[in-house]
Amino acid sequence: SCAVITIDGPTASGKGTVAHRVAKHLGFQYLDSGALYRLTALNAIGNGVALDDEASIASLAKVLPCRFDHGHVYLSASDVTDDVRAEQIGVAASRIAVLPLVRQALVELQLSFRTGNGLVADGRDMGTVIFPDAALKVFLTASAEARASRRYKQLKEKGIAANMEDLVKDLIERDARDSSRTTAPLKPAPDAYILDTSDMTAEQAVQQVLDWYAQ
Ligand code: C5P
Repeated sequence: SCAVITIDGPTASGKGTVAHRVAKHLGFQYLDSGALYRLTALNAIGNGVALDDEASIASLAKVLPCRFDHGHVYLSASDVTDDVRAEQIGVAASRIAVLPLVRQALVELQLSFRTGNGLVADGRDMGTVIFPDAALKVFLTASAEARASRRYKQLKEKGIAANMEDLVKDLIERDARDSSRTTAPLKPAPDAYILDTSDMTAEQAVQQVLDWYAQ
C-alpha cells in the first residue's frame, strides 16, 4: 500500500516548501493540488471561459492537459511554471475552486498521484476530502503577517514587483473565500496535527512532520 501524508493550510502558510522537502526526504511522490486549480484557471482564461461558468470549467478540468517534470509545469506543450504562480492566477484559482463540479472533476487526477513508495499531498482538502485515510495529516498555519512577508520575499526573489498592502489584502480575501465555501472548506481534519509555523524555519517544520511520521 502507498502511504499518504497530507499537508493542508491557508495560502502562503509554507505548506508547498514543507511538503516538497518531506517528499524528497522520504522518496515519496509530491502532489501540489493548488497547481491543479491554478492550471484549471489558466486554462479557462486561455480558452475565454468565464470564471463562473461551472459546467464549461469542469469539462476543461476533466481533461486538464497538465504535466509536472523536474520542477516545471506544463499545460499542453507550454511551460507555464511562472504563469501559474502569478498572484492573479491564485485569485482566479480560488474563484473556480468554489464550484463543486470543478472540484469533482479534479478528484481522479489527484488520486492518480498516489503511486510508488508514498505520497505527500499539499492543499486545502487533502486530509478532509481527497485522502481521508492518510497515515499522517498536518494542518499548517501562520499569522497573516508572516504569510504575507513570505509571499513578498518569494516574489521579490523572482524579480516580481509586489507590495505588502496588496498581498495582505489578497491573502485575507483568499482565506475568506477558501474558509466560507460550502464544498470542501478550508479546515483541519479532526485527526490532523496543527503546526503554527509563524516563528519556525522551513527546516524546523519539515523536521516536525518527519518526527510525527516516524512515531
Ligand atoms: O495552494 P495554492 O495557493 O496554490 O492554491 C490556489 C487556490 O486553489 C487556493 O486559494 C484555493 O482556493 C484552491 N485550492 C483548493 N483546494 C486545494 C488546493 C487549492 O480549493 N486542494
